Amino acid sequence: MTSTLPQAASGLRPAWVTGARVASWLRWVHTSVSGGTETRTALAPYDALPTVPVPVSTVADLQAAVVAARDAQPAWSALPYGARAEVMLRFHDLLLERQDEVMDLIQWEMGKARFHAWQEVLQVANLARHYSRHGETYLKTRKVRGVIPVVTSAKEVRVPKGVVGFISPWNYPFYLGVGDLIPALLAGNTAVGKADPQTPLTLLWARALLAEAGLPEHVWEVVAGDGPTLGQALIEEVDYLCFTGSTATGRIVAQRAARRLIGASLELGGKNPLIVRADAKLDVAARGAVEAAFANTGQMCIHIERVIVHQDVYDDFVAVLLAATGAQRIGQSFDFGHDVGSLASQAQLEKVVAHVDDAVAKGASVLAGGRARPDLGPYVYEPTVLADVTEEMDLCLGETFGPVVALYRAADDEDAIAMANRGRQGLSASIFSKDIAAAEALAPRIRAGSVNINDGASLAAGTVEAGMGGMGESGLGRRHGAEGIKRFTESQTVVSSKIGPVGPPPGMSVERFIALGNGQLKLLRRLRAR
Ligand code: NAD
Repeated sequence: MTSTLPQAASGLRPAWVTGARVASWLRWVHTSVSGGTETRTALAPYDALPTVPVPVSTVADLQAAVVAARDAQPAWSALPYGARAEVMLRFHDLLLERQDEVMDLIQWEMGKARFHAWQEVLQVANLARHYSRHGETYLKTRKVRGVIPVVTSAKEVRVPKGVVGFISPWNYPFYLGVGDLIPALLAGNTAVGKADPQTPLTLLWARALLAEAGLPEHVWEVVAGDGPTLGQALIEEVDYLCFTGSTATGRIVAQRAARRLIGASLELGGKNPLIVRADAKLDVAARGAVEAAFANTGQMCIHIERVIVHQDVYDDFVAVLLAATGAQRIGQSFDFGHDVGSLASQAQLEKVVAHVDDAVAKGASVLAGGRARPDLGPYVYEPTVLADVTEEMDLCLGETFGPVVALYRAADDEDAIAMANRGRQGLSASIFSKDIAAAEALAPRIRAGSVNINDGASLAAGTVEAGMGGMGESGLGRRHGAEGIKRFTESQTVVSSKIGPVGPPPGMSVERFIALGNGQLKLLRRLRAR
């Protein structure tokens, strides 16, 4: 097979994705996706040139993939947890060895700076290790007291859902494509994932690596195609759906899942606030705000889009923030030479431009950035800081999902909390303060699934032992921690009786049985036994 790719003349594609490597790679791409005779090719954000054609799965292909995954599930779930964990730990080790490959692919398909691609590796490695070591404890059988002491016993066990469907977006193609899959597979499910049309290659690379780590055939099937057709069809076939994406799509997904009465976890959009209290160290707060606002070129569900600053320190903070923003190295390269990369696509660029232009037309002030940089790359947009943003502007409460942050002045903590709770999302928030105890006391008053104190965004997400998810319109359910694996299981109560069916034994009247029952209730109350 000869490569149909443009060659590496521009230097904006990974050096290894050329020549013979591409030819063999195309072969595994075509055999990795279930079905598909048509192909679709995404444009690489660094140069707006085609990446690799990937087969588009049909609904029939998807149905076949689910059948294959369903057939593979009993054998996979019959393995001891430790055997499944061995596969994940091998995957962990291979990932660390081969991380450059996946960072190249993530950057090529999605355009982010390399440090943010490495954060995806870090998250997936942490999740693979964490759930391999602790998942079995999260799913441990719970013994409870039987209804009749001594003669009955009871326990709650966790059984896998069956086949879990995954729909994930392009902004973290590796972490969001694989991070939730790991606990689902470890819990004994098999899975079918729909690759996002912008970033299928990263998911396919992950699938190949898991196969190399020993994942049996059909335990994780991947289909590729668009959301409205294939995503909707997936919901019709699986036993549980794990969705990550926009609030608008999440609503459609939830309705479809509800019609089938299957469970779904929904990780949706945010409009996340960062509060700078009067006592905050301003250089630390500015560093946190810049990292959280512009990380992943602002295309991160938990990134900061609103910075709410105590009026006493507002002017000083703005000066430090603008200096830190100006120091960001913007550009595109497959090394660690840039802090802020490209947006992922023309559509993303248009959305960011529309939000900023609308705000400026309605009176917002541009303190930094505010313009595209076609000289640096087709979809590059400068890190942007706005002030004087009001509610009639689209970006005030609507998610921009780009490197744009708006500043607000708060009179005091009460005012800051009220501003943070504006809107209907509730994904993540941050508070910067020297007084950690005071910040911790404010945290529960903010409607957000995570609150980072003296960190912009990633500390909570990186704490994989604790749940991560949204309140309000930011989602349902939690990934990570105990809930992150339990959601992929059903709880089943198993009770046993040593005396056969519970009820009046032969020869005893109902009245006598009730009298004995009432006596037992009174005794238990007196003994405070249960
Ligand atoms: P999106 O909702 O448009 O797409 C997400 C995925 O859903 C894609 O794979 C897409 O193909 C699929 N899809 C689209 N329409 C569908 C439909 N009708 N039925 C089923 N699937 C469908 O989101 P996006 O714009 O690609 O991603 C960015 C959004 O995701 C942002 O709002 C961001 O905040 C959110 N997000 C949330 C989290 C989180 O953990 N809360 C993480 C990352 C991104």
